[in-house]
Amino acid sequence: MARKLPATDVVVVGLGWAGAIVSHELAAAGLSVIGLERGPWRDTAVDFNIASIADELRYSRRQELMLRNRQNTCTVRNSPSETALPMRVWGSFHPGNGTGGAGNHWAGITFRFQPEEFRLHSHLTERYGKELSPELTLQDWGTDWEEMEPFYTRFERLAGISGQAGNIKGTLIEGGNPFEGPRSEPYPNPPTAQPYAPMLFADTVRNLGYKPFPAPSALLSQGYTNPLGVTMGPCTFCGFCTNYGCANYSKASAITTVMPALMRKPNFTARTNCEVLQVTMDNSGKQATGVIYADASGELFEQPAALVIVAAFTFENVRLMLLSGVGEAYDPATGRGTTGRNFAYQTANSVRLFFDDKNFNPFIGGGAIGMGIDEFNNDNFDHSGLGFVGGGSTRVTPIGAAPIDSRPVPPGTPAWGSQWKAATVKNYLSTMSIGCEASSYSTRTNYLSLDPTYRDPHGRPLLRITFDFPENDRRMSAFCISKLSEIAKAMNPREFYGAGQTGHWNSAPYQSSHVVGGFIMGAEAATSSVNKYLQVWGVPNLFVIGASAFPQNPGYNPTGTVGALAYKAADAIVNRYLKRPGEMLSL
Ligand SMILES: Cc1cc2nc3c(=O)[nH]c(=O)nc-3n(C[C@H](O)[C@H](O)[C@H](O)COP(=O)(O)OP(=O)(O)OC[C@H]3O[C@@H](n4cnc5c(N)ncnc54)[C@H](O)[C@@H]3O)c2cc1C
Ligand code: SF4
Repeated sequence: MARKLPATDVVVVGLGWAGAIVSHELAAAGLSVIGLERGPWRDTAVDFNIASIADELRYSRRQELMLRNRQNTCTVRNSPSETALPMRVWGSFHPGNGTGGAGNHWAGITFRFQPEEFRLHSHLTERYGKELSPELTLQDWGTDWEEMEPFYTRFERLAGISGQAGNIKGTLIEGGNPFEGPRSEPYPNPPTAQPYAPMLFADTVRNLGYKPFPAPSALLSQGYTNPLGVTMGPCTFCGFCTNYGCANYSKASAITTVMPALMRKPNFTARTNCEVLQVTMDNSGKQATGVIYADASGELFEQPAALVIVAAFTFENVRLMLLSGVGEAYDPATGRGTTGRNFAYQTANSVRLFFDDKNFNPFIGGGAIGMGIDEFNNDNFDHSGLGFVGGGSTRVTPIGAAPIDSRPVPPGTPAWGSQWKAATVKNYLSTMSIGCEASSYSTRTNYLSLDPTYRDPHGRPLLRITFDFPENDRRMSAFCISKLSEIAKAMNPREFYGAGQTGHWNSAPYQSSHVVGGFIMGAEAATSSVNKYLQVWGVPNLFVIGASAFPQNPGYNPTGTVGALAYKAADAIVNRYLKRPGEMLSL
C-alpha cells in the first residue's frame, strides 16, 4: 500500500533535459513542482571530477552513468513473430540515469530538424506520390517550422550551442549549413576550433562542390553565461566526452545549464532515487491524479498532483503509458491503437580511412567537434527513381580515441597477438572515419509493447522493442555508403572500408541512442497520442515530453528538438492551459 503524500501543483517524472526544462518553466511561473528522478543526484564537482573522470573502464566499459540493467531494461526482437529476449548489458543504445539523464554522457551534436520534417508525409507524398513504399507509416507532426523555431532558439540559448548559422531569416550565410530552416538569430556562440581530420574532410568536400559547415555543438567554444545566469567554460577537447561526464562545465546538459537555477527556486523539490511506477488515473480515465513511486528503500508513495508531466525518455515514457493504461496499446496486426506506434531508430553508416602519410592526433577531440555536409540528408536531393526516401547527415567528428575502445585496424588483421599490436601501432595516429547518421522511417511492424514474460524488480513487465531496418532504410544506407566512399577516395587514403546497414538490426554493438516514437504527436487522436503541445489526447492534465513524440526519425540527432518541444509544452501550459485548467488545448 502506497503512503499518500500532500498534493502538489505539478509532478515531473525524470530530470533529464526535458524534465528539467519543464520543471524550471513551471516553477518560474509560480507553481509548486516536484521532480522525481529514478537515478542518483549528479553534480559536476563531485561526480565528474577531473582527477577521476577519464576512466575508460569505469564509464565506457562498465557504463557507470547508464541505467543499471538489473533495475530496468528492455527486451528485443526483430519481428512480431519472434520471442523477445532481455538486454542484460547495454549495446545498441546507452540510456541515462540520475539528474541530467543521458545529457550527462551524450555527444552534444545539436541540430534543428528541417521545416519539411514537420510535414514529412505530406511533403514526400506531394513530391514522389505513388513512389512511396507502402511499408512506411510516415506522419506529419501536427506542428510546423514557424511554431517550432522560437523554441529551438530558446533551447540553443539555454545550452549555449556553438555553431555557424547557414540561414538567417531567409538569407544564406557562407560557411553555415545551406539546408537549415530560416533562423531568427545566429547561434549564441561561434563554432569550436577544428582538429586536422575534420579540416581535411572539409577541404576535400569543398573541392567536390559540397558546402561543409561546423557541426552545431553543445560543447562550448568559449565561456558563456546562459539566460538563467548559469556560466559554462570553453571545451578543452579532452577526448573523454561521449559516455563520460564533463569535468570542465563545457558540455551543456541539464546539470550544467538548468539545475543550478532550478534548485534555487523554493517552490521546486527534487527527489532522487525515486522511480515512478505508474501514473494514477481517476475512475473516468480522463484525468491523471498523480503518480506512484518507490524510493531507494523500496517504500511506495503516492504523490497526488494537479498536473502530471512525464519526461522519462522514449522507452520509459511509452512503458509508463502502457503500464498506466493511457491510450490504446498499438496492435501491428490491425494498425489500431496509438501507444507504442511508430517506434523508429537511426541508421548508422560510416567509412574508415587508413593513411600512410597523416597524423591526426586522434586523442584530441570531443563528442560534437567536427565538420559536416548535408547534401545527402533527408530530402535535400531528388529521390525520384532511387527506390527509397530519407538520407543522412555526413560528418567527421573525432570524439577522442581512448586507448581501450579505439584500436582501429584494417579488416583481416588478427584480433590479438603481435600482428594485431603491430597494426594498432601502425594505424592509431593515421586513421579517421566519416560517419553518416541517417534517417529511420517508421513501419507498421516496428513498435513498442509490454513484454509478456520478463519483469522488473517491482514485478512490472519490461518494455518490448520490436524493430528491424525496413528495406527503404537499407537502400538509403547503400546510397549513403556509395557517397561516403566517393569522398573517401578523393581524400586519397591507403585503403578505406565502408560499414552500412545491410542485415537485420543487431542490438549488441553500439549504434545510436536516438530511439524515437511510440507516443507520437499529431493532429488527430486516431493516429497520435499527444497533440502539438505534448498534451495527451483525452487526458488534458497529462503531458508526455521527449523523442517519444517523433513520428519518425530524420537524419539528425534528436536533442535540439527534444529541448524545443519541452519549451513548447511549458509555454502552452503556462500561457494557455493554466487559464482553463482541465481542458484540452485547442489547436
Ligand atoms: C552516448 C550518447 C550520445 C548521444 N549523443 C547525442 C548527440 O550528439 N546529439 C543529440 O541530439 N542527442 C544525443 N544523444 C541523445 C540525448 O542524450 C537524448 O536525446 C536526451 O538526453 C533526451 O533527453 P530526455 O530528457 O528526453 O531523456 P533523458 O536524458 O534520458 O532523461 C530522462 C530521465 O528520466 C529518468 N527516468 C526514467 N524513467 C523514470 C522513472 N520511471 N521514474 C523516475 N525517473 C525516470 C531517467 O533516469 C533520466 O534521468 C546521445 C545519447 C547518448 C546516450
Ligand atoms: S571534450 Fe570538451 S565538452 Fe567533452 S568532456 Fe572534454 S572538455 Fe568536456
